[in-house]
Amino acid sequence: MSELSFAELGLDPAVLEAVTAVGYEKPSPIQAQSIPALLAGNHLLGVAQTGTGKTAAFALPLLSRIDASVTEPQILVLAPTRELAIQVAEAFTTYASKFRQFHVLPIYGGQDFYPQIKGLRRGAQVIVGTPGRMLDHLRKGTLKLDSLKALVLDEADEMLRMGFIDDVEAILAKTPDNCQRALFSATMPPQIKKVAQTYLRNATEVKIESETRTVERISQFVLPVYAERKLDALTRILEVEPIDAAIIFVRTKAETTMLAEKLSARGHAVAPLSGDLNQRQREQTVEDLKRGKKDIIIATDVAARGLDVSRITHVINYDVPYDTEAYIHRVGRTGRAGRTGKAILLVTPRERSWLKTLERATNSPMEAYELPSPTDLKKMREQQFESQLLGFAEDKKLAKAMSLLDEIAERNEMDMAMVAGALACWMEAAQPGSLPLEQPEALPVVSATPPRRDRKGGRPGGFKNGPKGGFKKGGPKGRGGPGGGPGGRGKPPGKGGKPAGKRPPRQA
Ligand code: ADP
Ligand code: MG
Repeated sequence: MSELSFAELGLDPAVLEAVTAVGYEKPSPIQAQSIPALLAGNHLLGVAQTGTGKTAAFALPLLSRIDASVTEPQILVLAPTRELAIQVAEAFTTYASKFRQFHVLPIYGGQDFYPQIKGLRRGAQVIVGTPGRMLDHLRKGTLKLDSLKALVLDEADEMLRMGFIDDVEAILAKTPDNCQRALFSATMPPQIKKVAQTYLRNATEVKIESETRTVERISQFVLPVYAERKLDALTRILEVEPIDAAIIFVRTKAETTMLAEKLSARGHAVAPLSGDLNQRQREQTVEDLKRGKKDIIIATDVAARGLDVSRITHVINYDVPYDTEAYIHRVGRTGRAGRTGKAILLVTPRERSWLKTLERATNSPMEAYELPSPTDLKKMREQQFESQLLGFAEDKKLAKAMSLLDEIAERNEMDMAMVAGALACWMEAAQPGSLPLEQPEALPVVSATPPRRDRKGGRPGGFKNGPKGGFKKGGPKGRGGPGGGPGGRGKPPGKGGKPAGKRPPRQA
């Protein structure tokens, strides 16, 4: 963090007041460097990873420069996805909360034109949208740029990757010559450089070397596992980790729903998030995660891009990402807003070589993730069962239940242990897995490093007795983890009503 305070940056007093109200203590590095340049009216080229605070880096100074009494589009922001557009629009609303009258309008594809046209007619100082729909409105004449003061391209490399570059250029060409421009991108591929050279001449360049920054608050683990055992491994991770909310990444849209169904059947509050959902469903899903109606989201890269939900404590890479860039974006979904997070990557034997590249790109080592042994796991389940049972020892209905069971016991000459045992078996029959009787099987261990081919007798496929090689040892210690109290995942009894009222996740 920089040494400057927000108050020293020269922001409009109303904007400064809003920032103070949100509770930001200090500008992040990209904010400290970008805000003065944008306040001075310069073009800005910002290279920074996700999670570095880019939105405020452009929103705060640009809001400081508009004439808030004019309800015509003065700031235009282009974003790659609808989710990001909405998120940026929400941020603008927050940062402009002390303006007397302020409207921000998100416009994106997949939504009816009519409400957007109505919104544009009503007037808004800031428009945030995806390039395609923005261009549609410009061509229809429903969006006019006569009062435009500034244009922002947010996540430019992602817009390129999604095939929006022509639309972006067409929009740039339509903006007034004296319009201030800012371009933010995590990387600088040649096409983005070209756009910058053409439309952002003499821009102030701000580069935040943030690969390590991005992941510094996130502890990263890798669990090598056979492809066909991934679901078992995931189920155990979810059982032992102290998860508040988690996002699980898979490669395909189809897999988001398949995996969501499987985890849902195991008792988790889970939802898929992919391009297969319509806009409303996607917004609803993110809202459900924020509010705690869902704890786990199974997502594809595109759908989860830029997702900012501070209660996400865990990112699980069920499928490896396509490249290191995507990996950094994925794990950046946790450790938001200054919190810490944990990322766990499942790799199959064939994918292990990729890990070295990844460690180099993130400039941080991955630790071998260790699942608890079957014995530890069984002990954990027993403790969890016990604490849930004890949670009912003060239930309002306990006295009545006891007198009913007393009568039954007496009539049938049973002792109370037998009655309790029969009840427990009934529970188990109603919900298999709720009674921790069996020792869970051990998942076969895969080595974290590829086997050496030259050695005789070396088994291909990588069976070994434990993760070895370039990884530091160290399991899911610290918060929760095996032995970390009854049921890493199980919320303590008494918190939030009846402990067993929430169905415990069925076990692998
Ligand atoms: P990026 O666009 O670079 O991925 P965002 O602008 O989405 O990052 O910001 C990431 C998170 O950090 C958001 O939750 C935001 O509210 C928070 N944030 C931004 N600036 C600050 C700051 N100066 N202090 C604390 N939190 C901040
Ligand atoms: Mg952003």
